[in-house]
Amino acid sequence: MSITTFQTRIGAPDIECRYPVIIGEDRVLGLAYRWHRDWLVITSEGELNLRRPAVTPGSKRASGIDMAAAYLAEEYAAGRITATGLEQLRSEAPKPVTGPVPLLHPRMPVTDRNVRGAVAAFAGLAEHHWRAVLHGFPGSDNPWYLLCELCGWSGVRYWSHHRGRNNQPPSPYRHDGGCIGKDKVRALIPAYSK
Ligand SMILES: [Zn+2]
Repeated sequence: MSITTFQTRIGAPDIECRYPVIIGEDRVLGLAYRWHRDWLVITSEGELNLRRPAVTPGSKRASGIDMAAAYLAEEYAAGRITATGLEQLRSEAPKPVTGPVPLLHPRMPVTDRNVRGAVAAFAGLAEHHWRAVLHGFPGSDNPWYLLCELCGWSGVRYWSHHRGRNNQPPSPYRHDGGCIGKDKVRALIPAYSK
């Protein structure tokens, strides 16, 4: 048993789906987030990829966020990282932009495949009246902060849910929190009447 154990809790994610790992009232040890299958942390010492949680024989894989929180608590207990205030972190959190965003998310390497994927994704967004308002295409399974141009709602989406399957358009149920209704969505977007 370790001598010093810090009880951590996970705070609300920012619009890039990065979770603050908090001790006490409001001391943030770092941000934890998933990128593809890996979990990464951002601390006072920079960014580190923790990869995936180990699988222990006879039990399921631990959750990535728990792995990240345990790692941060350990680093903090050892004095290797320092904490930040939650308020300060919130004030520095990424904010949506009004202008155009780059084609690719900064973490996405510029390869032919990624560029093709991004071009297809942006065409799909335009067709379905969505707009990227934070950053470029992050890949199909990473969070993408989008604005619904039909009602003004914005939030985190995943392109894998938006691109449709088997040549079928995505569900006309666009997002939680109400939109303009499935019938109006179907009427507005030509893909639903093909
Ligand atoms: Zn909407």
